[in-house]
Amino acid sequence: MRLILLGPPGAGKGTQAKMLKEKFQIPQISTGDILRQAVKDNTELGAKAKTVMDAGQLVPDNIVIGLIKERIRQGDCKTGFILDGFPRNITQAKKLSETLQDMNLAIDNVIDLEVDEGEVVERLTGRSTCPECGAMFHQVSRPPKVNEVCDSCGGKLEQRPDDNKETIEKRLKVYSESTAPLKEFYSKQESLRTVEAKGTVEEIFSRVCLMIE
Ligand code: AMP
Repeated sequence: MRLILLGPPGAGKGTQAKMLKEKFQIPQISTGDILRQAVKDNTELGAKAKTVMDAGQLVPDNIVIGLIKERIRQGDCKTGFILDGFPRNITQAKKLSETLQDMNLAIDNVIDLEVDEGEVVERLTGRSTCPECGAMFHQVSRPPKVNEVCDSCGGKLEQRPDDNKETIEKRLKVYSESTAPLKEFYSKQESLRTVEAKGTVEEIFSRVCLMIE
């Protein structure tokens, strides 16, 4: 199964992608995670991406398209994958379609996680992630048992540098200008399913599964 998760920053794409990965045993491909790792590892790619990411803007298309082309050709993607954070604009979506066509593959479902802007800002400013195992927390809706410590592996929780109010506003603007038009792009191909991303993560997950099963 090949899935795309759409939705604004903070809609819960990462959380749902992790749950889908477990259920269907297919990899989660998050361009944001790949880029953050490159920044941490101080690679050439990381150096190029950092300033753009800190500013809440999109990393150039040729870079992310290159990353995705390489990643979806890897062996673990044979049975499918979940794209989380890619595509982010029409150019990326067209390139993805072309690449999949060349491989004789297609996307089965595009799930759009729908949530309103006020809720997104609240979710993003309170969230923290474990750099060791990727578990996600929120100071109000899912606080860790011990402050700043991961419940699952004991790692020290981190806040993303771009999860501050000013950058969040920029990321939301980029979303509405560049990424939201993908809803129309995919609804024309009849592969778009909209899911209300409200309630607990489990409730949202049930809705997502209903759409794809
Ligand atoms: P995310 O973790 O998906 O919220 O992505 C964090 C940041 O990484 C974004 O604000 C962008 O700067 C960059 N990024 C992630 N995915 C893409 C993409 N598909 N195209 C361009 N930039 C991206």
